[in-house]
Amino acid sequence: WRRPPDDGAVQCTHIDAALAKASCARLGYFQDPYTEQLIRVNRSSGSPLIHRGYWSRVEAIRQTVLRFVQEAPAGGVQVVNLGAGFDTLYFWLREDAGRWRDDLFYFEVDFPEVLSKKISAISRRQNLWPMLDVSTMEELTTRSSLGLREIRTKHCRMVQADMRISSELTAAMEGCGLRPDLPTIFVAECVLVYMQALHGDGIIQWAASAVTAPSAMVMYEQTNPHDRFGKVMVKNLAERGCPLLSVYDYPSMEAQKERFLARGWTRCQVADMNEIYRSHLDQSEVERIHKLELMDEFEECLGGDCKDRKVTAAVGGCYAGTLKRDQ
Ligand code: SAM
Repeated sequence: WRRPPDDGAVQCTHIDAALAKASCARLGYFQDPYTEQLIRVNRSSGSPLIHRGYWSRVEAIRQTVLRFVQEAPAGGVQVVNLGAGFDTLYFWLREDAGRWRDDLFYFEVDFPEVLSKKISAISRRQNLWPMLDVSTMEELTTRSSLGLREIRTKHCRMVQADMRISSELTAAMEGCGLRPDLPTIFVAECVLVYMQALHGDGIIQWAASAVTAPSAMVMYEQTNPHDRFGKVMVKNLAERGCPLLSVYDYPSMEAQKERFLARGWTRCQVADMNEIYRSHLDQSEVERIHKLELMDEFEECLGGDCKDRKVTAAVGGCYAGTLKRDQ
């Protein structure tokens, strides 16, 4: 028996992610002027290795979502960010005419505790409101049936649910207008790993059946708990009340692939972050970010001359997958 994760500790992980992303943005790894408007950041923190890990994670997710959005035919496309925390993917898509399309509908879901903090932060940043197509507080937020503040603007819906409870997730998404007939990409960036595997399984299955149009899901999560760094990572998080339970149920990328194929997805690609870093991301960008910070421990770094790929994989976060379901 393993102790299930503590909800409060799991919710707090959005702060780690936001701080690391803000730190990357400050150092020039990627453009993101928004995260630091939503969370107080005192200074850049984290090692070059952490920054490279976050850079590759963010780039991989952004590029996958963008490709899906660009390839979807005219008539509507949806992006559903599951366990979005303080992620700013919506603003990144919206800020650039080359990325945005007017028939794009973007959804976020997270625990009520996290969502209410994000909405408070957005409420305080009036400069962000035009990107949400509103100019007043009354237009910005609405109350859910439970009396909680949510965002339901023309293109952006931010709603709350405990995604482990399938009926809650379904009600939240249907309630805010997710359409089953539009091509949809689901994003789970470092989220499902914080719940028991059976709950993550339920979400993967839910996503496969929530939409009848062609859909995809991109997931990033840790796997490989048994090597040197995997053990450290699992132990650290367990001490904070977030045991990474699903890494034991899905301890390899092959197991993750099977996980999707057994739950309604017809195709699945998996890649470790080394492969993403070396082969899928823009190599001129890789060269650029290598110049941003000096890196001592070259052997253990993404993009370094790694002798043991498994070690690097565990450090980098380990798993990213793109999954497509044909009609
Ligand atoms: N995806 C965001 C990112 O990469 O910046 C946040 C990642 S953070 C590590 C994990 C997020 O998943 C947290 O915001 C947490 O509240 C959310 N989460 C975990 N379990 C959840 C659940 N059962 N229902 C809703 N949200 C959940």
